[in-house]
Amino acid sequence: MSSRIPFTSARPAGSVQAEIARLAEMRNVHAAFLYLHNQEMEFRRWQREVAEIAAPPFGETARGEWLRQRLNALNLDVTVDELGNVFGVLRQDPGASFIGVSAHLDTVFPHGTRLETSEEGNRLRGPGISDNAAGLVAMVAVASAMQRAQLRPVANVVFIGNVGEEGEGNLRGMRHLFSTPPWKDALSTLLVIDGAGTDTYVTQALGSRRFEITFRSPGGHSWSDFGIPNPIVLLARALARFSEVAVPESPRTTFNIGVIHGGTSVNSIPASATARADLRSASMEELQILEERLRECVNEAWSEVPLAFRAGEAKVRFAIESIGDRPAAELPKNARILQVLCAVDAHLGIRSIARLASTDANVPLSLGKEAITIGAGGDGGGAHTLREWFDCTNRDLGLKRILLTLLALTGIHE
Ligand SMILES: [Zn+2]
Repeated sequence: MSSRIPFTSARPAGSVQAEIARLAEMRNVHAAFLYLHNQEMEFRRWQREVAEIAAPPFGETARGEWLRQRLNALNLDVTVDELGNVFGVLRQDPGASFIGVSAHLDTVFPHGTRLETSEEGNRLRGPGISDNAAGLVAMVAVASAMQRAQLRPVANVVFIGNVGEEGEGNLRGMRHLFSTPPWKDALSTLLVIDGAGTDTYVTQALGSRRFEITFRSPGGHSWSDFGIPNPIVLLARALARFSEVAVPESPRTTFNIGVIHGGTSVNSIPASATARADLRSASMEELQILEERLRECVNEAWSEVPLAFRAGEAKVRFAIESIGDRPAAELPKNARILQVLCAVDAHLGIRSIARLASTDANVPLSLGKEAITIGAGGDGGGAHTLREWFDCTNRDLGLKRILLTLLALTGIHE
């Protein structure tokens, strides 16, 4: 999850506010709050344990197994789908709809990354400790609190550890879930827990498109074949052009060239050169315009190649391949989940701000379903680096926030 622009928070309707106050007064909700406060040391153990289980994109199985065992221990009805998404169902009524709580299993760290964690005072350190070990722990903590306090939701609840949120995962876990029975229809609302924090919520899904751009040529010897077009030079020209494209500040639109490679040796004209570009915007329209500019810049660089290398069986070619496509979307201001969250924040004395980000919520939001992404409590930093940290101070405030929001969405039997 990556945060972007803050904008003003919505105001909760009075009746929702009263409902939150009533829920928070209930005896078993109090018991759940107490559990969330008292179990902090256990949550830290879980968090370090799960952060040390590798979960690179397309390699989430072991971490999924950790979650499966945790949810099993809570007597939930646990299943794992063909992609590795883990589901723990708290079913009350076979006919009722489902409210989902999700946390992604995957990290950005490739296989072989040292995943050691450490602890000093309230601060945990280690790759993925916040994004998203904190989210997984928050989800299990809330499920555990509900079971222990015998909270009986009116709607059914499913806790989901999903694969494929980060990078090349391209939201594959969520896409699968929302395109395949039974969850595609059963799940009306999704509360996504991603990373640390208590004071933000994501209602606007940042759209992104990612491309791999490749130039190819016959290549050759640097001396004897001099004159054969050089793919590295062509790629560099295309990227230099693209880097000068003007993007609007509002709706915020950005681009990045994150990876570049090509060539074999200093005295060879390379046969190919490749770069990866990440285009983002809050607006699908701006995203489309930016993609067109990228295609133009690449095409322009190619069209400067001498005709002899382009005509007929073109010896110099380029390809632009899509390697990621995340829809931009926005939660309506009057959405129930937003009303509820704002009322919960008001009740807990949290001053929250809305943010724009690319998260698992992009998928349900783009389908017109209600979804919001919030943090797992505590504080964190250094996401997607080896210096990542999570500060556990007041984590329980974030956990109460998740629990109250969920209970208000499901309703509870008294
Ligand atoms: Zn994340």
